[in-house]
Amino acid sequence: MGSNVDAANMEETRSALREKNPKIVFVLGGPGSGKGTQCASIVEHFGYTHLSAGELLRAEAQSGSEDAPMIKNMMSEGTIVPSEVTIKLLAKAIMKNENDKFLIDGFPRNEENQVAFESITGIEPEFVLFFDCSEEEMEKRILTRNQGRLDDNIDTIRKRFKVFVESSLSVINYYNSKGKVKKIDASKPVEEVFEAVKAVFAPVDDKSG
Ligand code: UDP
Ligand code: MG
Repeated sequence: MGSNVDAANMEETRSALREKNPKIVFVLGGPGSGKGTQCASIVEHFGYTHLSAGELLRAEAQSGSEDAPMIKNMMSEGTIVPSEVTIKLLAKAIMKNENDKFLIDGFPRNEENQVAFESITGIEPEFVLFFDCSEEEMEKRILTRNQGRLDDNIDTIRKRFKVFVESSLSVINYYNSKGKVKKIDASKPVEEVFEAVKAVFAPVDDKSG
């Protein structure tokens, strides 16, 4: 019975989401590439709402819900949680918020995530912001950020890099083939990276030259 109620709720959320039809920017890049940091600045300057798929999953893993143990296990291994779980959390977060423009950070992480999101929500991203950073730099950042994350240990970091290269890069390539990727050199200091980010979000007026 519980699952019938769930299914009904999900169907409602879906049609509400299709009706809302929010503007979505996917923010992608390897672990430690600076997605969360830059999203905070984008929110401040450009009025988006930031949704981190990883944060939503971490909260769900702590919630004691039916899915919590599975999510916790998968995150500690750096593997990708089933699409319907992540999409449900994202859909709820979008519907709970009055804003109509969202940064979705750290999702879609594989082709299945991407296909499922578009078919369930009917929404295509405006564009994809891709933070391009070397593994060496990303590893250094994660090992010094001390956010108390269980997956920020060297073994899981290596697994997350592997998953990024094997599963997530293909999503970036897919959107690149559709001309939707704005690539940012994310190896630089935070302020310099944000200058490049600003150029993407600021209204473009290049008619003058
Ligand atoms: N994760 C997932 N699906 C998502 C986003 C995150 O399964 O759409 C899981 C995955 O196990 C990942 C972890 O959550 O390694 C942490 O993701 P987050 O984006 O917070 O970390 P990042 O890799 O960006 O540092
Ligand atoms: Mg993050």
